[in-house]
Amino acid sequence: MEKIHIRYSSGAVDHYFGPAFDRLLSLCDWENLFIITDKNISRLYRKQLERYRVIEIEPGEMFKNQQTADKVILSLIELGADRQSFIIGLGGGVVTDLTGYVASIYKRGVKFGFVPTSLLAMVDAAMGGKNGVDVGLYKNMVGTFRHPDWIIIDPFFLHTLPDEEWSNGFAEIIKHAVIHDEFHFAELESFELTEFKKQKDLINSMIHRSVSIKTGITSNDEFEKGERKLLNFGHTIGHAIENKYNLSHGHAISIGMVAEALLSTRMAGLSQQDFERLEQLLEKFNLPVNFNFDVDDIWKLLLADKKIEGDEISIVLLKSIGEPMIRNVPLRELRTSLQQLNANK
Ligand code: ADP
Ligand code: ZN
Repeated sequence: MEKIHIRYSSGAVDHYFGPAFDRLLSLCDWENLFIITDKNISRLYRKQLERYRVIEIEPGEMFKNQQTADKVILSLIELGADRQSFIIGLGGGVVTDLTGYVASIYKRGVKFGFVPTSLLAMVDAAMGGKNGVDVGLYKNMVGTFRHPDWIIIDPFFLHTLPDEEWSNGFAEIIKHAVIHDEFHFAELESFELTEFKKQKDLINSMIHRSVSIKTGITSNDEFEKGERKLLNFGHTIGHAIENKYNLSHGHAISIGMVAEALLSTRMAGLSQQDFERLEQLLEKFNLPVNFNFDVDDIWKLLLADKKIEGDEISIVLLKSIGEPMIRNVPLRELRTSLQQLNANK
């Protein structure tokens, strides 16, 4: 099992790549351990979880809210969790976001670790120290900045992952490549999804690379003053359509990336050829590249975006694949790209 130590100004995180459950006991005192997971994972991994105290939540983004957090907190109280307890979030991004949030507020904060089980959580959600829940249609509106002590990335869990969740994970992998690494992007272009599913070494090395892009960016700029904003590529428009239309995160940001790349062709000189490469790569991983939505509805949600100042929005654009930039763009341009996307079918 490989260990990588990532230093953040607010704490350090050990990343372990390899078998998870075997190592749990050596990483923490299991008598004072609580595992938060969702009902899908607890059903699939019943045997592995037998000996632990497990708190289950309902699966799905719609349960990533304060009500679920309160339920988990009540269970922790009933089970006698104290300030010395250690909490593990075992699951997809919903579980890790909520666990990090609960652990950082329970009794003013207890230690925690993550075992991401979805591809998306392995390459994205579990890293970077952002925890939180949604409020109504507003994603991650409430939360904390706090890192887990460790993250175990064990690709073993992927053998039960549904097809759609593979695609969702690849949406973030593609995002990391398109904002950081043209070579990584070209590598993704050269393989099929089925090859990643079948070849362990291939998926392991893709996960490794994607994790190092994310940890590299987040450890340089923990509190999103500069570089970290690049990770929002596709997310301004993606988040707005995600909850409104009940789309999965990967699908929503895939559409968001296409919309923001369209804007980039007009505002940042992204070539038509690079735009089409991005569209084709997303499609190859079974991700949507257009969507029929109500521009006015999405517009209302976008206007609540934290990145709006006056009549401009700060947004990530692409000059080319692997070369992003952050620009203040007039809101009317953003609206035009929404209209174009709607017409792009
Ligand atoms: P994310 O896509 O952010 O990781 P979720 O936490 O909602 O979001 O996970 C997506 C879905 O995948 C959930 O229904 C979850 O129960 C399921 N899931 C996560 N990991 C696995 C796994 N290893 N095997 C089967 N289903 C999984
Ligand atoms: Zn995302």
